[in-house]
Amino acid sequence: MKFSFVNKKDAKSEEIKEKLINKVKCSIDEQNPDVVVTIGGDGTVLDAVCKYVDQLETILFVTIHTGNLGFYTEFLPKDIDLIGDLLKNGNTVYHTYPLLELKINHNKYYGLNEVTLFHNRHLLETDVYINDEFLMQTRSNGVCISTPTGSTAYNKSLGGAVMDHEVEAFQLTLIAPFETINTRMISPIVLSKGNKITIKPLTENVEVSYDRNYLQRIDLKEIEITLSNKKVKFVKNRGHSLTSKLKDKFIG
Ligand code: NAD
Repeated sequence: MKFSFVNKKDAKSEEIKEKLINKVKCSIDEQNPDVVVTIGGDGTVLDAVCKYVDQLETILFVTIHTGNLGFYTEFLPKDIDLIGDLLKNGNTVYHTYPLLELKINHNKYYGLNEVTLFHNRHLLETDVYINDEFLMQTRSNGVCISTPTGSTAYNKSLGGAVMDHEVEAFQLTLIAPFETINTRMISPIVLSKGNKITIKPLTENVEVSYDRNYLQRIDLKEIEITLSNKKVKFVKNRGHSLTSKLKDKFIG
């Protein structure tokens, strides 16, 4: 099996990488890996998925956290022997999580957590359509559309619902909506796969983020967002349910 590593450049992450290489005796192939090991936090996972977004069908991700458990990070450094055994025996069970697909000016982009539209200085006005049918006009700091796994990230800070990761759906929330009698906003809205959200900004110089990436001050007439058929596969640590992650990170 060919491996690639995407890790934080700190001493601890480098040490874990070396230990795992010795344990699995793997060959490294950064261009065409079968397994991508991330060592760091959720942000490192997002970077790795972005790097290999065109090869997701053939790649298994193993995610190791160097701090406390994150949402995408299934393993801790103490699990190296377990990871080595799982990979050597091919005895892996994995989660598959869908990405969002964004279409802008005939270009496609993908996000595992969310896509946001925002304006750095001004209130952002947009028209929102679902399946080409007008839903509402918004005035807010921005619009956020998240995946089920992204629902515990930015979406959660915006008052969106935490979603079961297995639900094939995506969620729209507004960032600091400015409500008046003329512009009333809908609460966060969850749509099933197969639906399409189109956002047409009425404000110029909009910025778009997808996970940790930014498109700045683009000439954006509209953006179409769907739940993609592209999925990412994370080797599962059977000990960590969504409930335990929610308790560990948010409830205590
Ligand atoms: P980062 O990579 O440092 O991540 C910020 C925090 O978000 C970390 O604690 C990380 O563990 C957590 N996180 C990331 N994905 C998560 C998920 N799916 N569920 C639960 N927690 C998650 O920060 P960054 O480079 O600025 O952007 C990465 C992510 O940060 C974005 O995709 C976005 O979801 C999130 N973010 C949140 C806010 C907010 O909550 N106000 C604002 C901007 C960005």
